[in-house]
Amino acid sequence: MDALFFGGDFGMNISDNSLVDSEVARTQKFMTAGLENYIDENIDGIIKEFEPNELGSIPVVMYHNLVEKEEDEGLYARSYANLRKDLVRLIEEGYVPITTREWVSGKIDVPAGKTPVVLTFDDGHPTDFQFGEDGKPTDECVVGIMESLVGEYPDFVPKATFYLNGPAAFGDYEYDPDKISYLLEHGYEVANHTTNHLNLSTIPIEQAKEEILSQAKRLEAYTGEKRFSFSVPFGEKFDDYDKKIKEGLLGDYYMISSVNVGWCPTYSVYSKDFNELSIDRITCGEDDFELYYWLDDLKNNPEKRFISDGIASAITIPSSLYENYDRERFLNTENRVIVYDDETYKIVNP
Ligand SMILES: [Zn+2]
Repeated sequence: MDALFFGGDFGMNISDNSLVDSEVARTQKFMTAGLENYIDENIDGIIKEFEPNELGSIPVVMYHNLVEKEEDEGLYARSYANLRKDLVRLIEEGYVPITTREWVSGKIDVPAGKTPVVLTFDDGHPTDFQFGEDGKPTDECVVGIMESLVGEYPDFVPKATFYLNGPAAFGDYEYDPDKISYLLEHGYEVANHTTNHLNLSTIPIEQAKEEILSQAKRLEAYTGEKRFSFSVPFGEKFDDYDKKIKEGLLGDYYMISSVNVGWCPTYSVYSKDFNELSIDRITCGEDDFELYYWLDDLKNNPEKRFISDGIASAITIPSSLYENYDRERFLNTENRVIVYDDETYKIVNP
């Protein structure tokens, strides 16, 4: 169905960071006539073939480091072989990696019929990214393992969000700038996990603020942006977290999203239940309420799952779920909302 996949051909490519700049003050933009025509001509076919549901849930998966042997995995680590196995399962079950930043932007640019998945890696562990002697990512790090799948699955585009803390990402002062530049150039997201990985709920608010801001400034040197995604150390937030962030605790720095240590797939970004400062993640692994449990659940209950319409600028929703759509949040965006009858597949006016 490549013919129906509609990428960034109209200057709306999600991988361009300038696009998400519009989150603060989105302005109403008119879509090009070409895109309007494309939607008009193809949306009926897309609905019948794929039954898109952009109010469904997606997995946001939390990883930390990698280990050589499966028996050393523990709660957060994954072996090299099992990370590869996870990625293969995700690809074969129709998941397409996007970054946290792309998810919260509401411009979901994955092919029709596919489900986004956000892969996150906390703590900037050395096994997340290492260069080999040849200057390429090794086969024993996250970046290298992801990129090794491209030959086997030509449509697979490696993407992940790396939440970094400490003064040197991936435990490596010498290569820190090279690694971060590599990630940014290859479509990964580098994000904020504070500087010292302290429990923000047990330190004074001024110190918590400094923990977040110091890392934000460090990332800004690479991204050129004051806007960042955030992962809360230990999942422990300070009191009135959302309120304080929204009321400007961080000054002219802007937290576009915040992920939790959670246990279930996250609400759709278009849902009224979605809170960008409280995005639940699921742990990697194969036990109850871990990644494999939820992949089974979404396979057995496909109505719960986010299914893309393949058009980044359209939000396609079955009419039975329309009441959950967060109209206010997306009112002034360039997204076009398409609601269709669950039974007849006919487009209905919301
Ligand atoms: Zn951490």
